[in-house]
Amino acid sequence: MRSYEKSRELFERSQNVLAGGVSSEFRKYNSPHPLFYAKGEGSRIWDVDGNESIDFTLSQGPLILGHSHPRILKKINCHSQDGQLYAGQHLLELELAETLQRLIPCAERIRFSLSGSEASHAALRLARAYTGKQKFLRFEGHYHGWFDNVSFGVSGTAEELGERKSPNAVAWTQGLPERVAEEAFVLPWNDLELVEKLVKKHSGELAAIITEPVMCNSGCIPPEPGFLQGLRDLCDRHEILLIFDEVITGFRLGLGGAQAHFGVTPDLAIFGKAMASGYPISVLAGKRSVMQLIADGKVIHAGTMNAGNPSVAAAVATIEVLEHENVHLRLHALGRKLMSGLQDAAKEADQKLLVQGFGSMFHCGFVDRLKVTDFRGTLHYDKAKYGRFLARMQERGIRLIGRGLWYLSAAHTEEEIDIAIKMASESLLEEKD
Ligand code: PLP
Repeated sequence: MRSYEKSRELFERSQNVLAGGVSSEFRKYNSPHPLFYAKGEGSRIWDVDGNESIDFTLSQGPLILGHSHPRILKKINCHSQDGQLYAGQHLLELELAETLQRLIPCAERIRFSLSGSEASHAALRLARAYTGKQKFLRFEGHYHGWFDNVSFGVSGTAEELGERKSPNAVAWTQGLPERVAEEAFVLPWNDLELVEKLVKKHSGELAAIITEPVMCNSGCIPPEPGFLQGLRDLCDRHEILLIFDEVITGFRLGLGGAQAHFGVTPDLAIFGKAMASGYPISVLAGKRSVMQLIADGKVIHAGTMNAGNPSVAAAVATIEVLEHENVHLRLHALGRKLMSGLQDAAKEADQKLLVQGFGSMFHCGFVDRLKVTDFRGTLHYDKAKYGRFLARMQERGIRLIGRGLWYLSAAHTEEEIDIAIKMASESLLEEKD
């Protein structure tokens, strides 16, 4: 059995100083308690008790090249030698923006921030100003950061969500302004008919439709054929802005994000995570006419720390490696091998495991269904069973995210994929016993 004694002691100590012992809500949910880590290299991570794991968590997605990639570190080091933050423009920032403009279909103009939450906040503000309308439509189970106006419709039990045709906007947290729920309409995802009905009724109030183009945060669910294009057409017809939240899909599905992959160009899109291998930078990208409001200072976007040297250097180096080493092809092939290996292992163990998604990111969960297409569908996953699977995988040196999402990096090898499948097979067979 692995020992987590040092982690346990540190966690006890940290509860006296960090609220809940952690720095982000999502870090609380670890077994047997939040762990402390000492080192990450490539696809591997070591906790303070010396336990080594193959990491499929990858810091909740950003580490697309793995931990501590030497080229990223070198570039960060080099540009940090010249200063960290100028409160002014710098050449590398301009070059990064030009690269993004070249790669991302909607990126006619760009602004940098630090986090995905900030970028989604800016996108919604901009959409309200551009359209002169106040509300937006979001979808159940999508995650657009932790700020007030997107803290509805993220979670909820079937009972809380209520009727499918007119769901309740379930609050994710206490402390929200009383009227903020009125800013958003919430609908189940992947159901164009419901969206059409709502848009017809409320187009005069709707500034934007915001969506993850793949519902990565709940089940890694792909869009149904025609769904994204359907949203695009509705937005065009009713003068509503379409916002893609590409904080996960960006630089994971491919260099142009989901918008290039699916061939649907939104008016605005936000990026973060994998773009800079774990360094704090996010992007609001959009059509020139919309972004002009920021250019003119009519919509304010600001930030002391925006586009600091280390983060910009990390993004430039990450994109260089992704582009020049053709990482995505290999990543998707490895991922597909892992996905089908897990499915085969589940069949052998007589377990109903559904594996959905794309090579570089996918979701696994125990459910007796051929596919899950929306958040309500994810409520049928047997989470207790996945918890047991997760603990068995952790014991065997495979680090996974609790809610079923798996991420792959360029640092993972074929051999490690085989190991992960073998460990999954053993863990699934144990569940049978
Ligand atoms: N949008 C999506 C799709 C995300 O997955 C996340 C974070 O997980 C965010 C926005 C918020 O990004 P950040 O955590 O950088 O604020």
